[in-house]
Amino acid sequence: MDAQKMTARRRLLNAALWAVCSVLAPSITAASDELIDAGESVEGIVTDIRYAGKNNFLGRPVAGYRTAKCWLSREASSALSKAQRLAETQGLAILIYDCYRPQRAVDDFVQWVTGDEDEPAKAIYYPNVPRSKLIDRGYIASRSGHSRGSTIDLTLIAIESGQPLNMGTPWDYFDARSHTASTEIDEDAARNRQVLKRIMKSAGFRAYYAEWWHFTLDNEPYPDTYFDIPIE
Ligand SMILES: [Zn+2]
Repeated sequence: MDAQKMTARRRLLNAALWAVCSVLAPSITAASDELIDAGESVEGIVTDIRYAGKNNFLGRPVAGYRTAKCWLSREASSALSKAQRLAETQGLAILIYDCYRPQRAVDDFVQWVTGDEDEPAKAIYYPNVPRSKLIDRGYIASRSGHSRGSTIDLTLIAIESGQPLNMGTPWDYFDARSHTASTEIDEDAARNRQVLKRIMKSAGFRAYYAEWWHFTLDNEPYPDTYFDIPIE
């Protein structure tokens, strides 16, 4: 075989190998048939999956979060990618706090409300509501849209400074000041909430009036399925 034929053959082999790898690649990042690792597949976003650690209203890792990953449906993941591109045109990036949430995590929240665990995070997340009232007042429910795989909690960071924008309250702050249209926050925060809402709306998500950080994909692919696959 002459050198030229050899090169052509090698090129063909490389092409075949590349094709095999690109077919295999999505299955490497797939978390399940329905959910993928969006933190890995969406370029440019930053993740800080709070329920996998201690910086959340329970003050401890939540059931079902075996690792800090952002799993989403393919559809939500691709819309999130669009949101990130839109944010970038404004010098911003998306910081994700929560994505898919296993049903067992939601069950853990409900049990915690009626339990007698210590409350190390009360001052940060729910200073004005007794734990036992969190369900009655609508802050915690036995089901969450997050379990359907197309709902995200997020904020924006300025790319230049790496700092989150002022949104008036922390994420998951159980208080009326977290309502997107609250008039009890300063102008800067009110403006930033609208910037986030506009970006998410343009990317195909709808806002939730009571939590400035919470968005659900319009036409979500699994509107009636509450997944319970642990995140690992
Ligand atoms: Zn949420």
